[in-house]
Amino acid sequence: MSIKDNLINLKNKLPSTTKLVAVSKTKPIEDIMEAYDAGQRVFGENKAQDMASKHALLPEDIEWHFIGHMQTNKVKLIAPFVSLIHSVDSLKLAKEINKQAEKNNRTIDCLLQFHIADEETKFGLSYNEAIDIIQNKATNNMDNIRFVGVMGMATFTDDNIQIKTEFGNLLKSFNKLKATCYSTYDYFEEISMGMSGDYKIAIEEGSTIVRLGTLIFGERTHI
Ligand SMILES: *Cc1c(COP(=O)(O)O)cnc(C)c1O
Repeated sequence: MSIKDNLINLKNKLPSTTKLVAVSKTKPIEDIMEAYDAGQRVFGENKAQDMASKHALLPEDIEWHFIGHMQTNKVKLIAPFVSLIHSVDSLKLAKEINKQAEKNNRTIDCLLQFHIADEETKFGLSYNEAIDIIQNKATNNMDNIRFVGVMGMATFTDDNIQIKTEFGNLLKSFNKLKATCYSTYDYFEEISMGMSGDYKIAIEEGSTIVRLGTLIFGERTHI
């Protein structure tokens, strides 16, 4: 199956309101262009340097989404063009994104990444840490960063009940933030959850953005 066929298949399975981020990390320019020629415009990368190099070589109308843990010293590489950063997991990172966005005279949309898995290795915030970042943003007038929703990664397991519970918890956190901080802000509307192995469960639990790599581009040979 070609990349194009994979995309067509997925589009048929996804609700029309679900945004598809084609996760192109480690994949070459040619693969991305194949997806682009099939109509895909949203791509996700997890390394700032890779995203910047690919951005320089590829069409301007691509929406670039950053999906990995980001070191603060890398924000400046993508601040001029990134569309959505899915992975704000500290106040320090939020401050740096705000600073670099201001330098570029823009506002950068971001998601608050929650820790929902039972694995130590997955980055992410607790509910109270998220509230702390939102409050800091307000008190420090961090007007060049805008939170438009939440993101989370479920545990890597074949226990579908556990995955469903974890995504359900992310949905609950989203609803609580919406009700307490963003009830009058329509832009706070995104729940980024679901990868190749668990996107169907994520959609059942209310995902608005799925991040799919393997199902589009095939297996990665390295991380
Ligand atoms: C790699 C990655 C994905 C895509 O994973 P697949 O299993 O290949 O679909 C999604 N989200 C994040 C944060 C990733 O790092």
